[in-house]
Amino acid sequence: MRILITGAAGFLGSHLCDHLLADGHHVIGMDNFITGSPDNIAHLANNERFEFYKRDVSNYIFVPGKVDAILHFASPASPNPQSKSGYFNLPIQTMKAGALGTHNCLGIARIQNARFLLASTSEIYGDPEVHPQAETYAGNVDPVGTRAVYDEAKRFAESLTMAYHRFHGVNTSIVRIFNTYGPRMDLEDGRALPNLLKQALLGQPLTVYGDGGQTRSFCFVDDLVDGIVKLLYSDEHLPVNIGNPVEMSILQFAEAINRVTGSKAGIIFEENSRSARDPQRRRPDITRAHELLNWNPNVDLEEGIRRTIPFFKQKLELE
Ligand code: UDP
Repeated sequence: MRILITGAAGFLGSHLCDHLLADGHHVIGMDNFITGSPDNIAHLANNERFEFYKRDVSNYIFVPGKVDAILHFASPASPNPQSKSGYFNLPIQTMKAGALGTHNCLGIARIQNARFLLASTSEIYGDPEVHPQAETYAGNVDPVGTRAVYDEAKRFAESLTMAYHRFHGVNTSIVRIFNTYGPRMDLEDGRALPNLLKQALLGQPLTVYGDGGQTRSFCFVDDLVDGIVKLLYSDEHLPVNIGNPVEMSILQFAEAINRVTGSKAGIIFEENSRSARDPQRRRPDITRAHELLNWNPNVDLEEGIRRTIPFFKQKLELE
């Protein structure tokens, strides 16, 4: 297949490029580098099955030749207000990538008769009142809340995707991605794993926001990409959660990072650092992914942290 990936220079987009190239496909990458990095795809420069275009997907996009599948992964995604690349500081671009970017990609999918896969998010569940979150849960989101630029853009993107499927018969799919980590994460994006792993490797105490009792479930990137590709190859149209169902508190997560890295600098609690509407609990119900795609994550947290450390050490110039 010839596969277009928007956000190809991002954390997830670049791993998808690698996986799909390894599966023998031709990959057309697109990115405007507002949050992605050329470093993430530099190793593909001489791959004759990889093409790259620097484009903003929120503007009209033209792709020469046949396209068999489109994965729309372009969007800022970090919720951290301090991060320059987070959606708090790129609010309009975030809404445009979710709304106009999705529209442009769906237009290509329609005209090319291509499979379309939308990168959606657990954030569409908001601060969930149902636990764990199954795809049938409609969410608890505030349209004018501080996270709304991301949540609502992705919710609109899902609605538009289903409209193109139902009205135009486009072969669409939607993945709802839960917290994911691994090599090529932006060390400066302010999320839990980059912040805490960086601190541990630099021998600094880990900053746990609030009392650390809020929970997340962290999926290693290889597991996530495996699930996304299985969804791409399937003929499923309704949303599918992909994420790791092992739930832990952020405090337990920080302790795991200190254990794996051997850091002795401890933990400090930053009572006031939690952003507004930071969800209290989050865990995917992955029954659908298991039943439809025969997918399950395989990499446990400590193994995943060990596999992420070399990339962080290289970026921090620790070796
Ligand atoms: N968090 C933390 N310390 C940090 C960064 C994040 O305790 O240095 C917490 C944050 O408040 C949230 C959780 O870790 O409750 C996960 O945050 P992240 O930014 O990774 O993404 P989210 O799951 O909120 O989208």
